[in-house]
Amino acid sequence: MAVDSTLSSPLGPPVCDKDAKALRFIEEMTRNADAVQERVLAEILSRNAETEYLKRFKLDGATDRETFKTKIPVITYDDVQPEIQRIANGDRSPILSAHPISEFLTSSGTSAGERKLMPTIKEELDRRQLLYSLLMPVMNLYVPGLDKGKGLYFLFVKSETRTPSGLLARPVLTSYYKSEHFKTRPYDPYNVYTSPNEAILCPDSFQSMYTQMLCGLIERNQVLRLGAVFASGLLRAIRFLQLNWVELAHDIRTGTLNSKITDQKLKNHMKHFIKPDPELASFVIQECSNENWEGIITRIWPNTKYLDVIVTGAMAQYIPTLNYYSGGLPLACTMYASSECYFGLNLNPMCKPSEVSYTIMPNMAYFEFLPHESGSTRIVDLADVEVGKEYELVITTYAGLYRYRVGDILRVTGFHNSAPQFHFVRRKNVLLSIDSDKTDESELQRAVENASKLLVKFNTSVVEYTSYADTETIPGHYVIYWELLTKTDSANSSNSPSHEVLNKCCLEMEESLNSVYRQCRVGDHSIGPLEIRVVKSGTFEELMDYAISRGASINQYKVPRCVNFTPIMELLDSRVVSVHFSQDLPHWTPERRR
Ligand code: AMP
Repeated sequence: MAVDSTLSSPLGPPVCDKDAKALRFIEEMTRNADAVQERVLAEILSRNAETEYLKRFKLDGATDRETFKTKIPVITYDDVQPEIQRIANGDRSPILSAHPISEFLTSSGTSAGERKLMPTIKEELDRRQLLYSLLMPVMNLYVPGLDKGKGLYFLFVKSETRTPSGLLARPVLTSYYKSEHFKTRPYDPYNVYTSPNEAILCPDSFQSMYTQMLCGLIERNQVLRLGAVFASGLLRAIRFLQLNWVELAHDIRTGTLNSKITDQKLKNHMKHFIKPDPELASFVIQECSNENWEGIITRIWPNTKYLDVIVTGAMAQYIPTLNYYSGGLPLACTMYASSECYFGLNLNPMCKPSEVSYTIMPNMAYFEFLPHESGSTRIVDLADVEVGKEYELVITTYAGLYRYRVGDILRVTGFHNSAPQFHFVRRKNVLLSIDSDKTDESELQRAVENASKLLVKFNTSVVEYTSYADTETIPGHYVIYWELLTKTDSANSSNSPSHEVLNKCCLEMEESLNSVYRQCRVGDHSIGPLEIRVVKSGTFEELMDYAISRGASINQYKVPRCVNFTPIMELLDSRVVSVHFSQDLPHWTPERRR
């Protein structure tokens, strides 16, 4: 098809007119970043002028940046939580947004142990859809021929609940996959998935994964790209294949569907799709029964050009394992988004993971940047950030979050036109993360305190602890190092805590962690049982000696609550006296505790 030459783009030659339009949109937005931001803020403030929140700060209908910045405070979730709770409880007056709140998106960030509830409005779906529609036009600039095959994407819906007033509360991707935007998306040759909607939308995670894998195996030669949202999700799929290839191969050989697939819509769909294919079944058995799974992805899906998964931020820990299974296929991080708002995309998606930068699209929300640890507190606009500096992202959304601190730290790497590009540095205050869980220092501290109560009757206390996220195994799990002190009791000198008691401490810690952790453990099985490694008395003093020998100040030394430096972990592991695991699952239900 000839591409309309008037639509060609500085980003590169588009492959079709649709792509040309998308690339031109990116150019328009990024060339006029500041003007677009000014317009976005004015739109948000004028439509929401009569909301209780903006009236409270006496904005009096002003829509300019200066008045906005003088009168509206920069806030965190806890500041706006009372308003959010009122909406959740049924107050339909315009509290935050003039447009009705259509549902709540449950963030993987937590407050008081529960997922944060992010208000959203119907039209935000269009904005998210718009950002999605830009991804393939950019990818097509770098990878030719993606219309000649399919994408094997492992996509899932998660459980949803309702607030006391009946508003839905669910993760943003569940909301998107269940929307008409996704379910009735028009055919696009560059965006064809092997997974049928029936599998993606099946609420049972086993049935969903099983059929997505089965379809991916059946169409293995057509698969040009493999993906999941986060790296941990793709590794979970590989693990699933390791555990279930015998049954999958059986279905392929016989053309029948495993009896564990009971979802009627799924069964109906698969009935027309699955046919006996003994040759493919033998191939799957031959590859999967091989002890060596190095490069398994390219062996089973030989035409894969890249893996489409986020490996920036906390997910960087999975890069070596992905490289192992894929024989070093390119890893594409295409977008940066959250429940609060979708932010932007990577205009150079085939770059190395360490070089990924996201260009924030100025039409998505109004963005401000709080300098991070540079001594300056002057918050700046999108167009005014400086290359090399780190900032915390602050957003004002169409759905009614005003000057809200997202908690992400970003470093400016450069500009595309007048729009800055950001390296995702890290999320603030996250100590441990395996999947979408984020455990901070105070949550870990509370979990250790709660678990150590089980030791009181043994005259034992936890004198020091540290932790790390072990991602060598799939799924990964939390490891907590404990140094214990048992006061000797002359009457009963052998009263130290038993193996069983320490196993219970593992479970007690899990019970104390936030609901996202517990959902990953119980609902998604994406985190393995928590492990406590008891180390010899004096180990943490050795740790301090080691840090001081490397230049730490003795006066300022604090025990790191999370470690990932190999020599330190080797030191800790060489002092382990006993190892304990959670023997049970912690409690978790989709319902919120408060
Ligand atoms: P949630 O609110 O659960 O949707 O999580 C959103 C958060 O996930 C963001 O604020 C980031 O901390 C993280 N995140 C999203 N996209 C990326 C990305 N491309 N790279 C690194 N972290 C990301």
